[in-house]
Amino acid sequence: MFDKEYDVIVVGAGHAGCEAAAAAANMGSKVLLVTMNLQTIGQMSCNPAMGGIAKGQIVREIDALGGYSGIISDKSAIQFKMLNKSKGPAMWSPRTQNDRMRFAEEWRLALESTPNVDFYQEMVSGLIIESGKACGVKTSLGISIKSKSVVLTNGTFLNGLIHIGDKQLGGGRAGEKASTGITEQLVQLGFESGRMKTGTPPRVDGRSLDYTKMIVQPGDLIPEKFSYSNTKSLVNQRDCHMSHTSELVHDLLREGFDRSPMFNGRIKSLGPRYCPSIEDKINRFSDKNSHQLFVEPEGWDTVEVYVNGFSTSLPEDVQFKALRSVVGFENVKFFRPGYAIEYDYFPPIQLKHTLETKLVNNLYFAGQINGTTGYEEAASQGLMAGINAHLKQNEKEDFILKRDEAYIGVLIDDLITKGTEEPYRMFTSRAEYRTLLRQDNADLRLTPKGFQIGLATEDRLKRMEEKQSKSDLFVKFFKDTSVLPDQINPILESVNSSLVKQSDKMFKSFSRPNVTMKHMLQIDTVSDFVAEHNLDREVLEQTEVQVKYSGYIAKEKNNADKLQRLENVKIPANFDYTQLKSLSYEAREKFSKIQPVTISQASRISGVSPSDISVLLVFLGR
Ligand SMILES: Cc1cc2nc3c(=O)[nH]c(=O)nc-3n(C[C@H](O)[C@H](O)[C@H](O)COP(=O)(O)OP(=O)(O)OC[C@H]3O[C@@H](n4cnc5c(N)ncnc54)[C@H](O)[C@@H]3O)c2cc1C
Repeated sequence: MFDKEYDVIVVGAGHAGCEAAAAAANMGSKVLLVTMNLQTIGQMSCNPAMGGIAKGQIVREIDALGGYSGIISDKSAIQFKMLNKSKGPAMWSPRTQNDRMRFAEEWRLALESTPNVDFYQEMVSGLIIESGKACGVKTSLGISIKSKSVVLTNGTFLNGLIHIGDKQLGGGRAGEKASTGITEQLVQLGFESGRMKTGTPPRVDGRSLDYTKMIVQPGDLIPEKFSYSNTKSLVNQRDCHMSHTSELVHDLLREGFDRSPMFNGRIKSLGPRYCPSIEDKINRFSDKNSHQLFVEPEGWDTVEVYVNGFSTSLPEDVQFKALRSVVGFENVKFFRPGYAIEYDYFPPIQLKHTLETKLVNNLYFAGQINGTTGYEEAASQGLMAGINAHLKQNEKEDFILKRDEAYIGVLIDDLITKGTEEPYRMFTSRAEYRTLLRQDNADLRLTPKGFQIGLATEDRLKRMEEKQSKSDLFVKFFKDTSVLPDQINPILESVNSSLVKQSDKMFKSFSRPNVTMKHMLQIDTVSDFVAEHNLDREVLEQTEVQVKYSGYIAKEKNNADKLQRLENVKIPANFDYTQLKSLSYEAREKFSKIQPVTISQASRISGVSPSDISVLLVFLGR
C-alpha cells in the first residue's frame, strides 16, 4: 500500500498535526497524515472556543505565517469577542466561540483540498529509526511506512487513562482508545517521559436549561475575525450565558470527594493550574461561596451545551446532582459527564528550537506531547514543526522565531529552555516584549517571514504591504495636519482633557489619554481622508496603536535590540561545561543537559545566576 517514501509523516490529526501537515504540504513536501480516527480530524477535545488572552495573539500569528487555524476558526465561529478592549493594545485578545462539528469539518475540507496530503487511518505503534534518524512509522496492524522525517503530535493519547469517580478507562479522549507503543519505544531509546493530567466539564442538553434565570453574554456589537485573509466577519451570533455555583452546589460536590480520583491519590500527575476542576476550586478557594459558570452553545444547529467552569472528575451521579442545583440547571439533562485524563508527555528540554528532538534526527514533537495545554499552543507548534521538517529535508536554514518576534517564539523558547512540569499555557505575562507582540500587527511581524520560507501566499503579502503603507500614510497625515481649537475642543472636553487655544498637529491631540480613533473620525478632514483612501478597520486600528503607543513601542524595541547582542553570542555545539569549574554546580548540570545555543538562552534557564553568565562570557570572550 505504501511503496513510496514520504517527505514527512505526521502522526495525529489534532490541532498540532493538522497545522504540521498543512504547512509541510503547502511548502512542497509529500505528506502522510496518519491518525487513529479520520472522523476526528481537527477535533476540539475540550471547550468549543479558539483564542482568548495571549492565545488569540497566537492564532493571529499562525494565520500571518500562512497556517489555517485562523481561517478555520472564522469559518466555524458562532460568536466573536475582543477581550481586554479596555486595556492597552498589547492585551487585546480575540476569541471565538465555535461550532465544534463545523470546526472539525472545515479542517478536514481544508486538508483534503491541500495538494500533497495523503491520509491513513491507523494507530502508529512505533517509529522506524535507522542510524539515529527517524525514517518512518510502524502501525498496529504491522504496516511499515517510510519517510524522511516524522512529526509526532499524539496529544492526550499516549497511554491515556480516563478517570470518572472511582472508574478508570484506558482512552485518549472519551470514546477513543489510547495510543500504546510509542512511549515505550522512545523511553528505550533514552527519552525521558512524564505524566500530566487535564479535565473537561459535562456537556448538557440546552433544551433542559432555563436561560431566563441566567445572564446573557452576547458577542461584540461589531465582531472582528482572526484571519488577515478574506474570511468574513460574523453577521449573526449566538449568545452565551452565565450562571454560578452556590454553597449548596459545593456541599453536594463535597459529598463525592471521597470518590474523587483527584483527592484519593489515584490521579498522581499535575494538571493545568489555571484551568482547575470545580472540586479543586472548592478545595483551594474554600472562602469563596460561588464560582462563575459560562454556558456555551456547541454550535449553530445543536442543542448540546458546554458548561465552562465545571470541569470535574467526580462520579457522574455527584456531577449530575450538583449541577441540578445550579441556577437555571434545575431540570438539566446530561449528554456526557465530565472526566479527567492522564497521559504521557516528553519534557520539552529534549528538543531543539526547531522542535526536532536532540536524540533522534528528523523526529519532531509538537503539541500536548511537549507538555503544553490548549489548541492554540498545539497548533502553533505543529506549524513550526511542519515548516522545519520541510526546510531540513530541503537543506534550508531552520525557521526560528525570536522572543521579540512572536508569542510562538516565546512559547518554544520557554519549553526548550525551561521545560515544564505542569501543563504549559501561554499568558501575556510570559512575553517580555508584549507591546511588540500585539494581535493587530501579527501580519506585519510575520507575513514577510512566512512568504520568504514559501508558506504565506503572495496575496497575503500584498494585503499586509497595503495595510502597512496605508497606515504609514495615515500616521503621516496625523503628523502633518493641523486641527483648529473649534474642531478639537469639543472632543477634548468630552474626555475631560484640557482645552487648547491654538491650532496644533492632530498627532498631538490624538496622543492624549482617552482620545480615540472614534473621536478623531468626528473631524471632517479625518473622515474625508479615510473615505478618500478607502481605509478599513484594520488600518484604522493599526494607525491608532502607532499614534497612541509610539513611545512605548520604541522603548520596547530598543530594549529588545540591546538584548539581541547576547542573542548573537553563540555557544559552540556540544560545549563541554565540566571544564568551567567556576560555574555553579546547578548551572553546569543544566547547561550540559539543555545545551543552550546562545548566551541569551543560557541566561533564561531557571537556576542560572548572573555570575554563571559572566563566567561563560569571559570564557567565550577568551
Ligand atoms: C479531557 C480533556 C480536557 C482538556 N482540557 C483542556 C483545557 O481545559 N484547557 C485547554 O487549553 N486544553 C484542554 N485540553 C487540551 C486540548 O484538547 C489539547 O491541548 C489540544 O487538543 C492538543 O492538541 P494536539 O494536536 O497536541 O493533540 P490532540 O488534539 O489530542 O490530537 C491528537 C491526535 O493524535 C491522534 N493520535 C494519537 N496517538 C496516535 C497514534 N499512535 N497513531 C495515530 N494517531 C494518533 C489522535 O487520534 C488525535 O487525532 C483538554 C483535552 C482533553 C482530552
